[in-house]
Amino acid sequence: MCRLIPIAFLLLALVGLPAFANDAVEAEVREIERLAVTAHWRQSDARIERLKPRLDRFSPEQRQRLEFVHLRNLGLSAHEQEALQGFTELLEEDLSAQLRVRVFTTAISIAANVEDWPLAFEWLGEGLLHLSEAPSESGKLMGVASYLHTLVGEIAKARELALRGLELVEARGGDARAVCQAVADVALAEDHARNFRESETWRYRQIEECTRAGDLVFIANGKYGVGKMLAAQGRHAEALDWGRQAIAEFEAAGFAGGAWSAKLVVAESLTTLGRGFDEAQVLLTEALAHYREKDAEFAIAETEQLMADLAERRGDLVEALAHRKFAATASQAAESISRERQLAYLQVEFDTRLKEQQIALLEAEKELAALQVTATQRRQWLLGLGMFALLVTAILLAILLRHSFHERRRYRRQSERDGLTGLLNYQQIRKRGEAAFARARADRRPFTAIVADIDLFKQVNDSYGHAAGDEALRSLGGWISEVVEGHGIAGRSGGDEFTILLEGDAAEAEALLRRLRARLEPITVFGQTFGFNLSAGLCQDDGNNATLEPLLHKADQALYRAKHGGRDRVVRADGNVAVRDLPDAHYEEYTTLVIPPLGRLRDDPGRGAGEPR
Ligand code: GH3
Ligand code: MG
Repeated sequence: MCRLIPIAFLLLALVGLPAFANDAVEAEVREIERLAVTAHWRQSDARIERLKPRLDRFSPEQRQRLEFVHLRNLGLSAHEQEALQGFTELLEEDLSAQLRVRVFTTAISIAANVEDWPLAFEWLGEGLLHLSEAPSESGKLMGVASYLHTLVGEIAKARELALRGLELVEARGGDARAVCQAVADVALAEDHARNFRESETWRYRQIEECTRAGDLVFIANGKYGVGKMLAAQGRHAEALDWGRQAIAEFEAAGFAGGAWSAKLVVAESLTTLGRGFDEAQVLLTEALAHYREKDAEFAIAETEQLMADLAERRGDLVEALAHRKFAATASQAAESISRERQLAYLQVEFDTRLKEQQIALLEAEKELAALQVTATQRRQWLLGLGMFALLVTAILLAILLRHSFHERRRYRRQSERDGLTGLLNYQQIRKRGEAAFARARADRRPFTAIVADIDLFKQVNDSYGHAAGDEALRSLGGWISEVVEGHGIAGRSGGDEFTILLEGDAAEAEALLRRLRARLEPITVFGQTFGFNLSAGLCQDDGNNATLEPLLHKADQALYRAKHGGRDRVVRADGNVAVRDLPDAHYEEYTTLVIPPLGRLRDDPGRGAGEPR
């Protein structure tokens, strides 16, 4: 069994290499990676050597990949210690996860090849930590893990790992090389489980898959495996053929370690069949020298055992005994190695458990963090909701505020205005009038008060109804607003009485009244059309009025005189009948007109109010 060791280790060292970018430099790297698998290691090494002066053209990652090929070649060419040192240094570099796992896989194989178990298991432990980052490499690392478990006698686990590795690579699209190597791992696990027939079957599949992948070393390894399994089943003649083929193919690939293992199969079969003791002797003697040089105790023990068998078959019992003694010594050494292996395994187990605990702890922390995140999110959500509610409330409040502002303005306006005419009410005309009066007085500007009253308004009510009277008041209010706007303030001071306060002199007041009287139009209500006239008294402040009140009183008196003077006229407080000074014929006409009673104007609704019927 021990002669399996070097073969399998080195096979695992030949783990696949990647395909990357496609520029010329990349193409060169990929070609070297391809050669490393499909040709003798010397070819890829020579190419790397030739590239050395141009290495600065390569990216750090490409240089790492070339270094990896070179180190693997060292492992293949029996410079294992140098290779291991190189791998240690390479692993200290900043590698991609994929390359790191690949380096681990190969380095572990070579470490095991030289029976450096602590290193092999240490790297396995580290490699397993990176598995999730490099899923494409996981199948291969599983293969190595399977192999190391085989060595420590964890056969069931080894088989399980190998099958899982195969499953993984098949699930990832069945890359030919990866499948080839995974099948080899399963075959090896079955071999160690002493399921020779099953292992033999897996080896045939290995040859098939590895031929498809063009992997020389693994094809040779498949053939070696078939030979070994046939020998284990006592079919030595067939085993001899497969063994010879394997030696030739291992040598063609430059894999010395593989060739030595195959030589043991050939020697065993030659011995058992009794077909070539001398050849067997040469093979075993050379193999023993090789293994002794490598201190490969398991292989030494096995070779010594085979040499003892050969000596026995030759009848040389003394030599047989000597070899058996050497075999026993080597076995003891191998046993101690085995214990070392077991210890290394246990160490990894312990580390793994520790790491599992750490991972569990991290997971728990992650869950806690996730819970905190959820709580924070909920808080943020609530905060957002609160903000939204606040915003909605603010908008509602703004709407309400705006509404109440408008309402207030409306109420204020209503409280200041006369509902029918829209003019200022009695209180407001007094209040604002006082202020305007004071301002004008202060600024020494002229100020004139007008008091106007509809003539014989009772008759309007009596003749056309109260609603018609209201309509007359409303219309008059509108006309007053029109003519006064911008010149002063106007209000309804009584039933049919209006007050106008003007920041101007008596002449301006007269002009305003002229415009107002010209504006009077017949009114049509419920199909009846009527007109009305207006009398007014005005008084310009002469500076002797302490407040607005006496000024208004004087204007009122002037109005009284206008009424008594025959109505439909404007009288100044100084005694003049203003209208008589006005050039307006229409005005004059009114002044001479005896108004009562106001007649209907049905025949000519478009003409001026109060015009003769
Ligand atoms: P004159 O002023 O020319 O001497 O005669 P007049 O008929 O207009 O007499 P006076 O000014 O004293 O009468 C005012 C009338 O106005 C009394 C009332 O019937 C009427 N009146 C007062 N307020 C309103 C009102 O809001 N609507 C209506 N339709 N009539 C009103
Ligand atoms: Mg009146």
